[in-house]
Amino acid sequence: MTDRETITEEQNSKKRIVILGGAESGVGSALLAKAKGFDVFVSDSSILQENYRKVLIDNEIKYEEEGHTDEFILIADEVIKSPGIPENASIVRKVSRQQIPIISEIEFAARYTQAKIIGITGSNGKSTTTLLTHHLLQEAGFKVGLAGNIGESFAKQVVEDAYDYFVVEVSSFQLDNTYDLRPYIALMINISPDHLDRYENNFNKYIASKFRIIQKQAPEDYFIYNYDDVNISERLQKIKDGVISQRGEEEAVAQEAINLPKCLPVSLQAVDQAEALAMNLSYYNESGREIVMNFKPEEGEQQTLNIPVSDLPLPGKHNIFNAMLALQACQILGASTAALQEGLKNFSNAPHRMEEVAELNNVKFINDSKSTNIDSAFYALDSIKMPEDQRRLVWIAGGVDKGNDYEKIQDLVTKKVKILICLGLDNKKIYNYFQKDVHVTIQTQQMNEAVEQAYDLCKPGDTVLLSPACASFDLFKNYEERGDNFKKAVQKLVRLKSRKKK
Ligand code: ADP
Repeated sequence: MTDRETITEEQNSKKRIVILGGAESGVGSALLAKAKGFDVFVSDSSILQENYRKVLIDNEIKYEEEGHTDEFILIADEVIKSPGIPENASIVRKVSRQQIPIISEIEFAARYTQAKIIGITGSNGKSTTTLLTHHLLQEAGFKVGLAGNIGESFAKQVVEDAYDYFVVEVSSFQLDNTYDLRPYIALMINISPDHLDRYENNFNKYIASKFRIIQKQAPEDYFIYNYDDVNISERLQKIKDGVISQRGEEEAVAQEAINLPKCLPVSLQAVDQAEALAMNLSYYNESGREIVMNFKPEEGEQQTLNIPVSDLPLPGKHNIFNAMLALQACQILGASTAALQEGLKNFSNAPHRMEEVAELNNVKFINDSKSTNIDSAFYALDSIKMPEDQRRLVWIAGGVDKGNDYEKIQDLVTKKVKILICLGLDNKKIYNYFQKDVHVTIQTQQMNEAVEQAYDLCKPGDTVLLSPACASFDLFKNYEERGDNFKKAVQKLVRLKSRKKK
């Protein structure tokens, strides 16, 4: 151990870090804090999961569960809050009142890694884009870790700090308590109303939270963003105009003090290539069935990568877009074209996102249980192809509505959906909205029943799509359980029908 490390650890040992929430991110933070020599304490209002409790015990980290004790918590020098705990939770309010700084796991972990961070945020598509970016970089030979909302916590992996790069999925809840996080590359996929209950029903606050991803970026860094998304482009313009600071404050900023990263827009609209080059814009040329990725490095020649859409791994326009973002990040880091082409070929997405489950007598079943808002349902409905003037879709939707505006998908539903099956505890809103547009609207609380009814009403060539546009916790533990139940119900149906045939 060097002198510097000894001194730092001695200093840290006098500092108390309290971690609120003892699951993946909290336990990861506790391990990192312990490794850095802090006095660590974990507190959870619920009972800890057995595996997490064991990690804390094995690593001699002090903790409490099923309640927060003020005396243990309010003596902290810094608190790391799990993203699942809202600002208005009573313990968080008490901590704030004592003016103890509250940070997120991502903020804490980023302090201790030498790796460059590729931070990915947005309302929809984070996991897909994060997995794809990580996969492509790995295929291209980079030493790259995958962290954030996916898999093992970022903090836990920083204990080893074995990578040159980390691709980190960052939700708005994780961004809320970041202050010095500075990704080398930040990606912003889209912003649509979601989780507004956590932002005092104020969409601007939610947008501001997402934009925290660039608050500490500087001209050496990169910001890849959705050029078509007005919420993103309007906010970015305000920052460029010096009306809102990069920190998110509504304050006047002098032009010379604006410190934005290099901005790389990505669009689903085709534009003239000369115009695209001038703007450093990458785009989807729908008529040419290809994507055109433009990138001008600081030093070196302008690069353009043309990739046929047929080489992209996932269906749907939204996934073409996700792939463009991922490819742009890889281009910045200098991944070779050959490696990217190879990587695109062998990528498979995580389950529950437009996942093809089975085909039975020419009826396809697709599990998009991860769709918990209108935007993701829009892209799911949009991506299913069928002849004009034919409604070939049985759509299973419903659950906990987080403030959906169904008008946004009304046209698509009217064009494509022949039957809507509402699967939820309280289906009033979705049922009432669509009952005039869809010939048969069915309500149920049973996944098996939903799947059986859907199949009975299908003709060969139809598709059954579970893309609920709603959260799952009225009937299920989470979206994974909902998707797994769908898959089980489909498999049961397949077994039943093939037995009958024999
Ligand atoms: P997140 O991690 O942001 O929730 P996922 O990649 O898990 O995103 O996808 C969540 C849902 O959003 C899925 O239904 C998926 O099909 C849909 N989706 C994926 N990418 C996009 C996108 N770029 N725009 C809109 N919806 C998307």
